[in-house]
Amino acid sequence: MHSEFELITRFFTPDPPGSEAGVALGVGDDCTLLAPTPGQRLAVSVDTSVAGSHFPEDAPAMAIGHRALAVSLSDLAAMGARARWCLMSLTLPAADDDAWLADFARGFHALCAATGTALVGGDVTRGELAIGVTVMGEVPPEQPLTRGGARPGDLLAVTGALGGGAGGLALWRRGERALEHPLLRRYLHPLPRLEAGLALRGLASAAIDISDGLLADLGHLLEASGVGAELTPAALPLAEGLVAALGKEPAREAGLHGGDDYELLLGFPPDHLDEARARLAALDLPLTVIGRFSAEPGIRGVAMTGARGWQHFTGDAAP
Ligand SMILES: [Mg+2]
Repeated sequence: MHSEFELITRFFTPDPPGSEAGVALGVGDDCTLLAPTPGQRLAVSVDTSVAGSHFPEDAPAMAIGHRALAVSLSDLAAMGARARWCLMSLTLPAADDDAWLADFARGFHALCAATGTALVGGDVTRGELAIGVTVMGEVPPEQPLTRGGARPGDLLAVTGALGGGAGGLALWRRGERALEHPLLRRYLHPLPRLEAGLALRGLASAAIDISDGLLADLGHLLEASGVGAELTPAALPLAEGLVAALGKEPAREAGLHGGDDYELLLGFPPDHLDEARARLAALDLPLTVIGRFSAEPGIRGVAMTGARGWQHFTGDAAP
């Protein structure tokens, strides 16, 4: 059994400590001292991933490390913030599985490196496996993307594809273990849309990341903006292979309700759309218009049924 200190030193301390940008004093003292860029706002968010609840306990350790950071970074992406630093609170059932810890740390550090995020502190405790990750990013005071800026007449659009997270989880539960399967990859290795968030500063009127499912997160955005939306469900960009893996209707349900997609749901004044598409095309990321905001509250274009929550509007009777 490693002591907490040994474990942090061995798996989670950069070499040399404090060598990252914007870190005035790194891991090893009672606090880390950060040096934010003068004039920028600090965007801060925390998410906790619990084994068995937010990810399967038997998921690959590298994927668990990657996802724990990705879900938090996705919130920075939705604010148009540039990722800078993170803190990790790791709860482990045992601290002596070196192979698991090395893989977990590799997944976490790889995403840190890919996104320019420095791990600047954390702690390790014993208990059921859970990972809390606090992320900090920077955004110019005049340019944050928020949930509250959508206006009637704005277009409703989404980056990338939907339903892949739910589809990947369904496949994992069925025993699919080919990690290169595109849907499994979408679930186990989501890529937070940080570059897209930066590219859309000053263009999008509102933004939220899709962590709880399109309709749930759209509801949050509508509430914050004080508007409604007319959705065009036929326009939803479903993840490749989703219909083949789940069947047509479950695939549509996954697109509307499935969590863990970590795409951005956005509002745009119509005359900003072409520029937004061009900027995302440069990132190889599609942007699909899936509806329009309206003054009338609520979500139209989908029918709600009592027992099942939101029901995709197909023209068929609800089952
Ligand atoms: Mg969020």
